[in-house]
Amino acid sequence: MSDACPARPLKKNKPQPHMWTIGGRCGYCRMDRPPRPDPERAETTTGREHPETSHAAAARVLPNTGTQRAKVLDFIRARYPDGATDDEMQEGLGLRHQSQTPRRNELARDGWIEDSGVKRSTGTGADAIVWRFVP
Ligand SMILES: [Zn+2]
Repeated sequence: MSDACPARPLKKNKPQPHMWTIGGRCGYCRMDRPPRPDPERAETTTGREHPETSHAAAARVLPNTGTQRAKVLDFIRARYPDGATDDEMQEGLGLRHQSQTPRRNELARDGWIEDSGVKRSTGTGADAIVWRFVP
């Protein structure tokens, strides 16, 4: 079940999901982004407390400390607001491309990080998406 956006135009007659922007709201209907699972954000003060929903969500996608996903998240979070490219994550964490990119995809899916809209040239000269922690 997905939560479709009531204001977003249909695509192929199918409802489209909300498009969360950097401000934490849907770019179409302006709905606030629902709370995300909150594994280890005690050091931040911006998170809102929704005990019931966050508890349920946490069981779904909790990035356990020590997992690759948690490491990728920590890496990107530490670089807020500059963000990090896949190359930078791989090099900084010593992960292979095939290990890092799925973790980055999962984090983006769960709303922890987002495409910042910025690109940075990599060592090979190609432009790469800069992924940024969503505060
Ligand atoms: Zn929406």
